[in-house]
Amino acid sequence: MKITVFGTGYVGLVQGVILANVGHHVVCVDVDADKVEKLTQGIIPIFEPGLEALVKENSAAGRLQFTTDAAAGVTHGDVQFIAVGTPPDEDGSADLQYVLKVAETIAEHMQAHRIIVDKSTVPVGTADKVRTWVARVLEQHGKTALTFDVVSNPEFLKEGSAVADCQKPDRIIIGTEDTHSIEIMRELYAPFNRNHEKMIVMDVRSAELTKYAANCMLATKISFMNEMANLAERLGADIEAVRQGIGTDPRIGYHFIYPGVGYGGSCFPKDVQALVRTAENIGFDAKVLKAVEARNAEQKTTLFEKIHAHFNGALSGKTFALWGLAFKPNTDDMREAPSRVLMEALWAAGAKVQAFDPEAMEETQRLYGNRDDLTLCGTKETALNGADALVVVTEWQNFRALDFALIHTQLSQPTIFDGRNMHEPARMANKGFTYYSVGRKPLMSE
Ligand code: NAD
Repeated sequence: MKITVFGTGYVGLVQGVILANVGHHVVCVDVDADKVEKLTQGIIPIFEPGLEALVKENSAAGRLQFTTDAAAGVTHGDVQFIAVGTPPDEDGSADLQYVLKVAETIAEHMQAHRIIVDKSTVPVGTADKVRTWVARVLEQHGKTALTFDVVSNPEFLKEGSAVADCQKPDRIIIGTEDTHSIEIMRELYAPFNRNHEKMIVMDVRSAELTKYAANCMLATKISFMNEMANLAERLGADIEAVRQGIGTDPRIGYHFIYPGVGYGGSCFPKDVQALVRTAENIGFDAKVLKAVEARNAEQKTTLFEKIHAHFNGALSGKTFALWGLAFKPNTDDMREAPSRVLMEALWAAGAKVQAFDPEAMEETQRLYGNRDDLTLCGTKETALNGADALVVVTEWQNFRALDFALIHTQLSQPTIFDGRNMHEPARMANKGFTYYSVGRKPLMSE
């Protein structure tokens, strides 16, 4: 099948590659000429496990191409995916300018029937908007005889396991009532739908809302657990025991109930906000979602508050070793990352940061540039050098085993602030550390 994907970010690039890998002929279009040039050379602008090899393999096989030539892209694909960004507007609602721009481009260059697929996360009603937009541009160009459909096909991949998620999707949501489009989407996704039926066909608005409902549910679980953690801290309970205690109930489950320093990334924060705004626009007060958002914003400040309290507010001139900058492990994405809130608070208090992350160093450099109060360290060990305390923000695998002797010699005070509950408090105290975590009593070194 001939497929075109607009946008080569986390979603468009992975989706394009995965479709090419099962034998479809895919053209990926992006307006970022530098990115397209790099991708053509097999240089991958993002970190996503398994992606690079697949890009190279499928490009070499001639099934995957990258271009800035939108007209060629529209000519190529019977199916046109829109996978561009939908960042938050000033008021938190989803900014649809990139989606509508692509819709316009498709209409301008269309010469035959096209199925336009909204892969981006877009508010309910966007497919209708795209439909109107395309029809208007077709009319302007005297092409009213051309037919098209707009399908909602939201993406559920997780950064860090995007390739695996796309290869083995939990579900394939198709929002359209057009039988031809349903048939084409079935054919397109058939290679991913072999083990058991994963395709769920529904009306377009329900498909759009399904994506928001999924992300908002996950964000709710996180904020709920963080609220319990804050309560546990104040009540003298241990949130990790509570987590195990509730996870056994299959109605609750163990997934996504880890307390921490708040959710970040490009999806949960903006999708919760966007749904709150969508609700407001129709005069509905989304009380639960607002609380989820408020709890998350506060949770991102809790590590700083613990640090501030431990040092009695005297943070000026102190240096902190910070492990983990990406918003979660296995990605280099720093969008809305809790590490940013923490670093910015530490800097505002006059402290310095020595940071290490296995993948997000370049992104941190790009975001903050060169500043006297930030040192980007080549290893987690060098980040410790002469620091007053260690702060763990992202739960990368290789932060799990600690070299206790080294940490003791490098830190001026044996103090660890762990935003991800990666260690046992009693063991840390036993090893001579003052150890703060989330939802558990701080333990002082023995
Ligand atoms: P991104 O910002 O990483 O990438 C978007 C890409 O679109 C960029 O490369 C940009 O240059 C390109 N672009 C912008 N305008 C264009 C145009 N007119 N023509 C062609 N390309 C254009 O975004 P992303 O993280 O891949 O997210 C894309 C959408 O998918 C968003 O709506 C997001 O909410 C949703 N989504 C993201 C994830 C995720 O984990 N990142 C998961 C599921 C859904």
